[in-house]
Amino acid sequence: MSVPYELRCRECKKTWANQPKAVCDFCFAPLEVVYDYDAIRKNLTREKIASREPDLWRYRELLPLPEGFSPQVRPGYTPLVYARKGGERIGSRSLFLKNDAVCFPTLSFKDRVVSVALAQARAFGFNTIGCSSTGNLANSVAAHAAKLGFDAWIFIPSDLEPAKILGTQVFGAKLVRIGGNYDQVNRLCSQIADEHNWGFVNVNLRPYYAEGSKTVGYEIAEQLGWRLPDNVVVPMAGGSLITKIRKAFDELVTLGLVEAKPVKFFGAQATGCSPISSAVKAGRAEIDPQKPKTIARSLAIGNPADGIYAAKAIRSSGGHAEDISDPEIVAAIRDLAETEGIFTETAGGVTYGVTRKLIEQGRIHPEELTVTCITGNGLKTTDVLADQFEYEEAISPRYVQFQEYLAAALARSGAEGAKLPAVVGAPEVPGMAQVASA
Ligand SMILES: *Cc1c(COP(=O)(O)O)cnc(C)c1O
Ligand SMILES: [Zn+2]
Repeated sequence: MSVPYELRCRECKKTWANQPKAVCDFCFAPLEVVYDYDAIRKNLTREKIASREPDLWRYRELLPLPEGFSPQVRPGYTPLVYARKGGERIGSRSLFLKNDAVCFPTLSFKDRVVSVALAQARAFGFNTIGCSSTGNLANSVAAHAAKLGFDAWIFIPSDLEPAKILGTQVFGAKLVRIGGNYDQVNRLCSQIADEHNWGFVNVNLRPYYAEGSKTVGYEIAEQLGWRLPDNVVVPMAGGSLITKIRKAFDELVTLGLVEAKPVKFFGAQATGCSPISSAVKAGRAEIDPQKPKTIARSLAIGNPADGIYAAKAIRSSGGHAEDISDPEIVAAIRDLAETEGIFTETAGGVTYGVTRKLIEQGRIHPEELTVTCITGNGLKTTDVLADQFEYEEAISPRYVQFQEYLAAALARSGAEGAKLPAVVGAPEVPGMAQVASA
C-alpha cells in the first residue's frame, strides 16, 4: 500500500482512493477504510499511546485523518467502570460499563464518529455538512459544526424527543423535521447529497464516520490493561458500532498490542425495532426491514445499513443477539441508575436489559469479563420516565412539617429501606488502576 489508508469495497475488494463515497459502483456493497498495518506496526506502541492526551486522538494512527490534521474537539476516553452492584443485580460478577453517556461534547458515542468524519469533510472541501439522524447524531453534528465553522443541515424524523431537538437547535444548526421514519429521512439525504456539494457524515462520508466507532474498542482494551474481554454487549441501530468494535480488537491483535483471544459479540435491540436481532435469532442471513415502534428512538432504524455485517460478526464470534420490550427498557434504565449512579438514555437501557436477558439464558456466564456499552445520556430521554415517579406537593419550610412528612414516608416504605444488597468481592483484574483513574 502506498498511502496510509484508503477506501476499499467490502465485497469485490476494489480500492477507491480517498473521496466522499460510501458504496462501490460495481457491486453496490459498502466501502470501508483499510490501512497499511505494516507501516503502523513499526511505530505504534502501548507506551506511545499511553503518553498521549486522554481522548480518541490517542489512536490517531488507526484513524483516517488527513495530513496535518489538528483536532479542535476532543471526544472519547470515557470511563470504563467496574459495576459491582449493577452486575450483582443482573447476575454477573464481572460486569464493566463503557460509559459514553459522558462522551464530549454532546453526551453520546456519536461524538466519536462525527469528529472523525469531519476531519475528512474539511479535506474534501465541504463547507456545508449534514446528517440524517435518530437524535444523538444531530446533536453532535450541530455542536461540531458550531465549533469548526461549518454550516449544518440536520434531517430528523419529526417524532424525536424534545431534548434531542432542542439540543440540536441550540447550536445554530438548520433543523429539518420530516414527517416520516428514519429510513425515509436517510433516503432523502442520499438524494440531497447527490444534488448539492454537501458532506453528509453518515451518507457520503459514512466509511470515515464509521471508523470513529473503533475507538470504543481501543479504549476498552487499553482500560482493561491491554487485554480483551470475554464478551461485549453492544446496542445496534444501523449495526455499524458492533462491527467496528470487532475491527478494533482485530487490529490491536494484528499490531501486537493485545494478545489474541476469542471475544463473543452480543447485539442488543428494542423489540419494537429488532431487524438484526430477529435475523440472528432465526439464523437468517438476510435482514427483513421493519417499521420501528419503540421508545428507543436512537436505535429505531428499520432497515439497517450494516445489518448483515453486524449479524455476521455476532454469529462468527459465537455470540448472540437479543431484544427487550419498552417496559423492560424503562426498568433497566432505573436499575442501572439505582445501582451504578449512571443515568442512561433508552439505548443504554436496551444494552443493560439485554445483558440481563443473556445472563438468564446462560449465554453469558457470571464469571466472564463482560463489557456492556452505555452509549447515551438519560437527560436526553427523560420523557420515557414521565409516568414513573410521583411529583409531590411542596411542604412548607418548617421542621415540624418535615417531621410529619418523614413519619408518613417511613410508614409508606415499611422496613424495606433497611435491607442492603450483599457485598461481592471484585474479581481480580490486572490493569484495574487504569480503570479506576480513567
Ligand atoms: C447511533 C447510536 C447507536 C448505534 O449505532 P450504530 O452504529 O448505527 O449501530 C447506539 N446508541 C446510541 C445512543 C446511538 O445514538
Ligand atoms: Zn465492489
